[in-house]
Amino acid sequence: MSENCIFCQIVNDRLESRTVYEDELTLAFLDVNPLAPGHTVVIPKAHIERLEDLPTEQMGPLFEAVRRVTDKVQQAMKVDATTIGINNGRAAGQAVPHLHVHIIPRRADDGGGSLHSIVHSNGPLSLDEVQRLIQQVFGA
Ligand code: AMP
Ligand code: ZN
Repeated sequence: MSENCIFCQIVNDRLESRTVYEDELTLAFLDVNPLAPGHTVVIPKAHIERLEDLPTEQMGPLFEAVRRVTDKVQQAMKVDATTIGINNGRAAGQAVPHLHVHIIPRRADDGGGSLHSIVHSNGPLSLDEVQRLIQQVFGA
């Protein structure tokens, strides 16, 4: 638990939330400022800031919860599509520094875009160069 973290406060019942799913490691609740009806966030109960910090043994349970909640929210909201994503780090728009997966119900006529509409800032590096840079880090 991180004292100043609002999502830790929700996990520890110090702050109210509209919970829709809970298991030993995971909590899912309605986003207080929804982008679409049924917008839900799924979090690990442990205070983990970013995806890279999530212990391997918690990865499966978190993603399993995302799968289950996605299925139920789609049924409840009567949609057959969702955008699922993580703002991973402040530069990516992460406002709450406790890892959370957004599940956003989508409709063909909702006026929104795909993940490809988020950013268009590809720089001068070729795909070959980018691949080499990433492989170097894997090999380091
Ligand atoms: P992010 O920008 O990815 O960090 O998103 C944080 C999300 O948490 C936003 O969509 C907020 O609307 C949502 N949020 C913030 N406080 C609460 C809260 N107390 N209960 C539910 N959702 C919250
Ligand atoms: Zn936290």
